[in-house]
Amino acid sequence: MSTVLVLATTTGYQTRAFGDAAVRLGVDLVFATDCCHLIEDPWQDHAIPIRFYDEDSSVAAIVEAARQRPIDGVIAVGDRPTVIAARVADALGLSFHSPAAAAIARDKRRTRECLRDAGLPVPWFVQVDTRIATPESPIATPESRLQTPLSYPCVLKPVALSGSRGVMRVDDDRALAAAVDRLRAIVESPDVRAERNDAHECALLEGFIPGREYALEGLMRQGALQVLAVFDKPDPLDGPFFEETVYVTPSAAPDGTRAAIVEAVTRAAAAIGLEHGPIHAECRVNPDGVFVLEVAARPIGGLCARALRFTSTASPQSPVPSPLEELLLRHALGEDPGAWCRENAASGVMMIPIPRGGIYRGVGGTDAARAVPCVDHVEITAKADQRLVPLPEGASYLGFIFARAPHGSAVEHALRAAHARLTFAIDAELPVLTSAQIHYNRGHG
Ligand code: ADP
Repeated sequence: MSTVLVLATTTGYQTRAFGDAAVRLGVDLVFATDCCHLIEDPWQDHAIPIRFYDEDSSVAAIVEAARQRPIDGVIAVGDRPTVIAARVADALGLSFHSPAAAAIARDKRRTRECLRDAGLPVPWFVQVDTRIATPESPIATPESRLQTPLSYPCVLKPVALSGSRGVMRVDDDRALAAAVDRLRAIVESPDVRAERNDAHECALLEGFIPGREYALEGLMRQGALQVLAVFDKPDPLDGPFFEETVYVTPSAAPDGTRAAIVEAVTRAAAAIGLEHGPIHAECRVNPDGVFVLEVAARPIGGLCARALRFTSTASPQSPVPSPLEELLLRHALGEDPGAWCRENAASGVMMIPIPRGGIYRGVGGTDAARAVPCVDHVEITAKADQRLVPLPEGASYLGFIFARAPHGSAVEHALRAAHARLTFAIDAELPVLTSAQIHYNRGHG
C-alpha cells in the first residue's frame, strides 16, 4: 500500500476529506501537524508532531519517521508547511516543488521580484519594515523612498500572512501612516507572533491594480500546468480591505481573457520555479494585461476545495464525481492527472464575510438557505460565543455556502439568495477598560 504524507496545521475538514479519499483509493496517509505536543496524540491520528517555525527539526522528524514507514508522496495543506513539504520531498527523493520555489511563493516581496525579473507585468513595489516605519516616514529607508515613484492609490500588505489579512488600500499620506500603524499592531498580535516568522516584520507597499479578479487552481507536473479550474470573483475587490466572498467556476470571462490568465500563471509559476505539485494563483485583469498577484505552492484552502469535483475521461460514466483531494492524492503518487477534468456543472462557494466585530451568538435561517434551489451545502463554522474579528485584523469567515447549477450565473444567484436568508446574531463586545478607568469607575460606583 502506498503512503502519502499530508502536512497540515491541524485536523480539519480537508484532512478528513483526504482521509475519505485515501480509503477509497486504498492509500495510507500519515499526517504531520503543528498542534499541541503536550497532549499525547491529541487528534488520535498518529500525526508526526512538528513545529512549522522550526523547519530543520520538522524535516528531520519527518525523515526519521519515514525510515520506519516509507513515504511515497507529499501534500501540503495551507501556506505555512509548503517549504517543509518541499524539503522533505527533496530529502526523500520525491517529486514536488523545490524548497527554493516554495519559499519564494510564500513571500509576496520575493514573488514580486521574480515576476518583475521574468518580464511579467507587476505594479511598482517597495519594502516597508514595520518596526522602523514612522508616520512621517513609512517607507523603510530614505533611499528606497527616493527610488520609488510612490503614487496613490496603493496597497500595503504583510509579505507572509494569507487570506487577505493585513492587506489595506491606501489613498493618501495620512491613510498610509495609519495603515502602517494598523499593520504593525496586526503583526505584533499574539497569534502572529506565535508563528515566530521574522518575515512578518516586512511589508510590501505596491501600486493598486484596478480590474477584475480571478483565481486559478492547477496541478504542475514536471513543469507543465494542468488547469483544474478558473474561478470568477464577481464581487468588486477595490478595498479598503479585500475580503474574498464569491468564487464561481467556470469563469464567464471571454475565451481570450481565460487563455491570457492561463498563460500568465504558467509564466509566473515557471518564473518562481514551481514545477511539481498543486498551485493556487490569484490575478487581476485590466486593459494593461494580466497581473499575477500570487502563485501559492498549495491547493485552494480548506472548505473551499469542496467546490471542486472531477470526473475521469477513463470512466466518464462514473456516477459520483471525485473530490479534489482524490486528485491530489493520485497526483502525489505520480499519476498523470491529464485524464481528469472538472465535472460539467458550474459550481461555486461563498465565504460568508464577518459583517462586524463582536461576539457571535448564533445563526438563523440555515434551513431556508439550504432550501434555495441549487444550494447543496451550508456550513456555519463560527462557534457560539466566539469573538469575531473582521478584516484586516481577522482571519476567518462565518461559514461557507456551496452551490451547483448548469450555469455560473445561476450558481452566483443561488449563493447570494442563500446568504440573504441567513441572519447572524452578533453582540457588541464590551469595551476593554484600562486599570485607570476601572479605578475611576470603582470610586464613582
Ligand atoms: P493574501 O495572500 O493574504 O490573500 P494577496 O496579496 O493575494 O494576499 O492580496 C489579497 C487581496 O488583496 C487580493 O486578492 C486582491 O483582492 C487585493 N490586492 C492585493 N494586492 C493588490 C494590488 N496591488 N492591487 C489591487 N488589489 C490588490
